[in-house]
Amino acid sequence: LSLSDTVEAHRICVCVRKRPLNNKEVTKKDIDVVSIPGNGTLLLHEPKQKVDLTKYLDNQVFHFDYSFDESSTNDLVYRFTAKPLVQTIFDGGMATCFAYGQTGSGKTHTMGGDFSGKSQNSAKGIYAMAAQDVFALLKQRRYSSLDLCPYVTFFEIYNSKVFDLLNKKAKLRVLEDEKQQVQVVGLQEMYVSCAEDVIKMIEMGSACRTSGQTSANANSSRSHAILQVILRRRNQVHGKFSLVDLAGNERGIDVRSSNRQTLVETAEINRSLLALKECIRSLGMDSHHIPFRMSKLTQVLRDSFIGENSRTCMIAMVSPGMSSCDSTVNTLRYADRVKEL
Ligand code: ADP
Ligand code: MG
Repeated sequence: LSLSDTVEAHRICVCVRKRPLNNKEVTKKDIDVVSIPGNGTLLLHEPKQKVDLTKYLDNQVFHFDYSFDESSTNDLVYRFTAKPLVQTIFDGGMATCFAYGQTGSGKTHTMGGDFSGKSQNSAKGIYAMAAQDVFALLKQRRYSSLDLCPYVTFFEIYNSKVFDLLNKKAKLRVLEDEKQQVQVVGLQEMYVSCAEDVIKMIEMGSACRTSGQTSANANSSRSHAILQVILRRRNQVHGKFSLVDLAGNERGIDVRSSNRQTLVETAEINRSLLALKECIRSLGMDSHHIPFRMSKLTQVLRDSFIGENSRTCMIAMVSPGMSSCDSTVNTLRYADRVKEL
């Protein structure tokens, strides 16, 4: 079986990626509690305590389509996750790729890439690699006769509100017509003529996403960012690839010490991630009821959950440290639930 066969056979692909321990964790003597023996398996060694206070490791096993350890590059992760989905949009389907996990687990590193120069891994992210493959396929003879035109949108959902990252964070309205077609009113859809055009939009949108924030990771970790590559044919949508850098799903937000805004944000994030889980599951079960109205996130992605030819990939990111154990368990359980039955 070739790589594309294995992925194409499923409508839903769920993978996990572990990042290396970072300097801060090493300094704090945090220990690595995640191991990846390969073949889609992940082992979590969660330290626990018995009633008599003796300590032990609770070992849990998880299975996914693929599991990537801390030595894997963005390039490798891309080849097994999003790359097979590029084909889907040329065949007239809808594709989505989600990066899920707590803040700091590597979602933006995987999707947007890392240009800080600090990382040893490949800098290019899934956004840019997918854009390059879209243009490579556009040049192929079997697709050039279709007259497909590529466009890009890039937007953010924060507290159920949509902001255009390609238009100075303009706040946009979401409308649903009588045919349940969902439209983001006024969203800039930019024509792109080469992969470099897309990369420029990604850089522009990413800068827009993080600007105006006080602390380094503030708002961007509390919002979902969605990059879409749309192939149009005679002005109709032929295929659409949505690449989503989800908001952090962190555990352990202290209800008593947090301010109102943080609590509202957290409740919103939890609600949208729950909705996403339900929508992906209904895709896997060929259900006719897709609860896409449960959140703004699933509402704007409605197209992705319908149709014969929809494919989804979720990459669950985990931090290796013992200090992240609660969030890691949470992430792994979530990812386990969206697996196709
Ligand atoms: P998130 O978007 O999930 O909040 P980031 O992608 O911003 O997390 O990652 C947090 C930090 O960890 C960044 O400095 C990033 O460069 C680093 N990092 C994440 N994943 C990896 C990886 N696989 N290899 C090396 N560094 C990584
Ligand atoms: Mg991020």
